[in-house]
Amino acid sequence: MPSRYKTVLLFGAPGVVKGTQGKILGTIPGFFHFATGDMFRQIDISSDLGKIFYEYSSRGELVPDEVTVKMWTETIHAHCILHEYKPRHDLLILDGIPRTVEQAQMLDAHIEVIKVIHLICDDQKAMFERLRRRALKENRFDDADEKVIRHRWSVYEAQTRPVLDHYPSDMTIEINSVGSPALVLRDLLDIVAPIQNQHFSAYEG
Ligand code: ADP
Repeated sequence: MPSRYKTVLLFGAPGVVKGTQGKILGTIPGFFHFATGDMFRQIDISSDLGKIFYEYSSRGELVPDEVTVKMWTETIHAHCILHEYKPRHDLLILDGIPRTVEQAQMLDAHIEVIKVIHLICDDQKAMFERLRRRALKENRFDDADEKVIRHRWSVYEAQTRPVLDHYPSDMTIEINSVGSPALVLRDLLDIVAPIQNQHFSAYEG
C-alpha cells in the first residue's frame, strides 16, 4: 500500500456543489470520492459518536478535530480493506476534509495532496437557496434554519478558508461553480483526469 494516499482536495464554501460534483467523479473508474459529511451522516444518531455529530452539526459547528480525523482514518482504512478504495489504482477525491488548519496538519501524515480545487461562487444568495432546498429534500437539520446556514458560513470563513494557506499557492486552482453541472464537471475533469492518468497510468479497472 502506498505510504500516503494520492489526493485531490475539493474545497469551497457550504452550498458550492462540492458534494454533487464529487459524487459524479466517484462513479468514474480510477477515482474514489470520500465526503466527511456523508461519513458522519451514516452514523447511528443514538450512538455516542452520533450524538457528538448531532450536537455540533445542528448548530452549524464543526465536529472536534481529534474525533473527525480519527473517524476519517478508520473509515478510509475500512474502505481499503473492503477494496472499495484501491490506493494503488484510485485517485482519492476528498470532500469536506481538512476543514481546519489542525486537520490539515494531522492529515499530512496520511495524504499526499497533488491539487486543491477551490470551487467558487460569487452569488451568495444562490448558495443559500441551494442549501435550503437541499435541507428540505434530504431532511438535513443543519441547513433547515437560516441562522444555522449563516453560522456555517462564518465558521467556513474563520476556520476553513485558512486551510488554503496550508498548501503551496501553486497547488490551488479555482473553478467557477456557477453554471450547468455538466460544464462544471468538464472543468473539473480537465484538472483531475490528467492527474489520475499521470499517477495511475497502469490502471486496469
Ligand atoms: P456541506 O453542506 O458544507 O457539504 P457537510 O455535509 O460536508 O456540509 O458536513 C455536514 C456537517 O458535518 C458539518 O456541518 C460539520 O458539523 C460536520 N463535518 C463534516 N466534515 C467535517 C470536518 N472535516 N470537520 C469537522 N466537522 C465536519
